[in-house]
Amino acid sequence: MGIVKTENLTFEYIRRDEEGNVDGITTAVDNVNMELKQGEFIAILGHNGSGKSTLAKHFNALVSPTEGTVWVDGMDTREEDKTLKIRQTAGMVFQNPDNQIICTLVDEEVGFGPENIGVPTDEIWERVEKSLKAVGMYQFRHASPNKLSGGQKQRVAIAGIVAMKPKCIVLDEPTAMLDPMGRKEVIHVLHELNKKEGVTIILITHYMEEVIDADRVYVMDAGKVVMSGTPKAVFSRVEELKKLRLDVPQVTELAFELKKSGIPLRDGILTREELVQELVKAGKSD
Ligand code: ADP
Ligand code: MG
Repeated sequence: MGIVKTENLTFEYIRRDEEGNVDGITTAVDNVNMELKQGEFIAILGHNGSGKSTLAKHFNALVSPTEGTVWVDGMDTREEDKTLKIRQTAGMVFQNPDNQIICTLVDEEVGFGPENIGVPTDEIWERVEKSLKAVGMYQFRHASPNKLSGGQKQRVAIAGIVAMKPKCIVLDEPTAMLDPMGRKEVIHVLHELNKKEGVTIILITHYMEEVIDADRVYVMDAGKVVMSGTPKAVFSRVEELKKLRLDVPQVTELAFELKKSGIPLRDGILTREELVQELVKAGKSD
């Protein structure tokens, strides 16, 4: 079984009026079946309100399915005695780093999680050092988190999760509040953790550029998974993505427009280098 698996997963938010009567039901996740492989870099895309955050909350046992089942590393998220183990297996990083950071020093912040689960003191400091090095923030270990940039804060938050030795990290739009530089730093760190430490990364984002290097992409719309595949396969479907009110990476968009205007290019071009190569080929065949 994959690190995360969902079977016929449906989640409904139920609104009630003052008397407690059901006022309305929103189906935020609608019969989702997915199996995410250990060690992969997975991206989940979708317009606002498509159900990404609600889906992600299931991976961390923050919510329980209305229908269907979610397993994290084989553990059914409905079983309450597994909640702690599930949260250690799949750590979660949220959008706003300021809401996640609670300590006054960076190293204390990163050690907070391990300390809370009773890791012996010597090992805590080993983990803190290793985690801060992994996210490139070791030189800031004695700094105050509120002096850091958004990207640096988010990397400290990620180090705090890494220090818990999770198999998987779920990140819900971790770069949405960052400047372009901070976004690049965070995405780079995630790829490093994935490649060097083998941590499964589940990245929720609406920035297409962040998805290009993922192993697998899922696209959500109205609570359903409507597309999945490699970035190349998914971004070949430009028209469909546009209908879902999603952009494609800038280079892909340009290639798509060039192709429409008659230049023979293949679909699913993701990088500048690929586009240049294809244009050279197209030039030669003239
Ligand atoms: P996304 O993360 O893709 O923006 P969400 O999972 O936040 O999507 O939301 C999916 C749907 O569920 C939306 O229609 C949203 O309005 C609704 N929703 C989200 N959170 C709540 C909540 N706490 N109570 C009621 N409805 C909610
Ligand atoms: Mg969301």
